Amino acid sequence: MVLFKKREDIKMTPEQEQIVLGTVLGDGNLSINKKAKYSSARLRCNHGIKQAEYADWKADKMGEMVSFVKTVDNNGWGNKNRVVYTYSTPSLREIYDSVYPSGRKSVDSWVNRLGPLGLAVWYMDDGSVSGSARHIGTQAFSLKENERLKEMLMGWGASVKIRFDKRGKGYYFLEIEKPSTSEFFKVIEPHIIPSMAYKMPRAMDKERPCPVCGAVFSGDVRKVYCSKKCLKMADYERNKDAYKNRARRSREKARQERNA
Ligand SMILES: [Zn+2]
Repeated sequence: MVLFKKREDIKMTPEQEQIVLGTVLGDGNLSINKKAKYSSARLRCNHGIKQAEYADWKADKMGEMVSFVKTVDNNGWGNKNRVVYTYSTPSLREIYDSVYPSGRKSVDSWVNRLGPLGLAVWYMDDGSVSGSARHIGTQAFSLKENERLKEMLMGWGASVKIRFDKRGKGYYFLEIEKPSTSEFFKVIEPHIIPSMAYKMPRAMDKERPCPVCGAVFSGDVRKVYCSKKCLKMADYERNKDAYKNRARRSREKARQERNA
């Protein structure tokens, strides 16, 4: 016997709501179900196959809300996508009304409903690494909406700059300044899944002593010394002979030029 569950009975847990909100602010989309007389909406999220593990994690968390998960071809480009669809439910329709007040996805007071998990999902969706900088792709939103997101992130301890995207007219994205010391990443860290950890700053490392002065410090794992001063000192120690030879050579050269 198959038990059919009434869509109306599918309620979101607070955790599922966070995943939905983070996904909607990120890569996902809500659409209304016309057949159900517009009383419900469904969520669709689409991830590249490299992020299949992440898509499956979302589906797992959304549990009985999920209608299906499948791998699809991406417009004949040879790439595959992992797509998650939920059922159409009234509780998603309620979120739809906040996020799409005029049919277009927009940033409004609803973004203040995002907690640590929702923020982590948004960052896993749209966060990216550019050298030591961390960006969030917000090109879908206006300058005013980016300002609102900036304000929201600042409330979570991030220092944020709105950057102009040179690739398209009127497009913006967010840059989280000094990611290695940003409180924001400490807030979302417990919710970041291992396959997405590469998006995090390399700063969440253990404290270690500086080999030159012994001071205990933390931060970027690639950093061996606590300060520029100690780095220079270590460099000098390592290359002492070369520095001395270079100094001697330049003195000799100066002498020869004088005598010439
Ligand atoms: Zn030091």
